[in-house]
Amino acid sequence: MQSENVVDLREAFSHRAEPAPRQIDPDDWRRYERYMAEIFTALGMTPDTPGTRETPQRFLQALYDATAGYEGDPKLVTAFPAESRGGPDSLVSQVVEGPISFHCLCEHHALPFFGTAHVAYVARDEIIGISKLTRLVQLYARRFTVQERLGEQVADALMELIAPHGVAVHLEAAHLCTQMRGVREENSRTVTTFWRGSYTEDPALRQDFLALVQRP
Ligand SMILES: [Zn+2]
Repeated sequence: MQSENVVDLREAFSHRAEPAPRQIDPDDWRRYERYMAEIFTALGMTPDTPGTRETPQRFLQALYDATAGYEGDPKLVTAFPAESRGGPDSLVSQVVEGPISFHCLCEHHALPFFGTAHVAYVARDEIIGISKLTRLVQLYARRFTVQERLGEQVADALMELIAPHGVAVHLEAAHLCTQMRGVREENSRTVTTFWRGSYTEDPALRQDFLALVQRP
């Protein structure tokens, strides 16, 4: 049985994940394409060749697609498949899922950062499948964001969705905004971890999780 609290939390999540299609007026869209053509040309691109004629339009469309997370994910909200997993107080071992690949746009440079996520939780009485976890990561990844916020949002949403004893999120990403401009080693990766509930209190649980996700 779910406590009322769990239902309330899930409702809160549902409101944040519910579909919110973006409306961009076609006239505005054409104006943005002209801006992009002007910027690309100023930077050195030769406009109006067979290869570049449609580039402003394609570039904007690619940005639009890469930020689809702002539109929510109805499949995360509706028909949430919850499987019973013992009683409400049963403490089962952690479930670790991953790697889940993700692609974001860094909100500082609007350039991609991308990598893999591992998500773990200690279930209370519900579990969530890998496909839903993948959707959850994509919901927050396909935006202008930073790696820290992505991890916090995935961890908090999972706490709200299935009210587990604890959640761990491990993100490993390459940031093109530093690599393309030679600020950092080409193969350097940024690793961040996020802990909720039992993971914050139990170092052994954290170690088990890290040992699983850091396997070579
Ligand atoms: Zn950046």
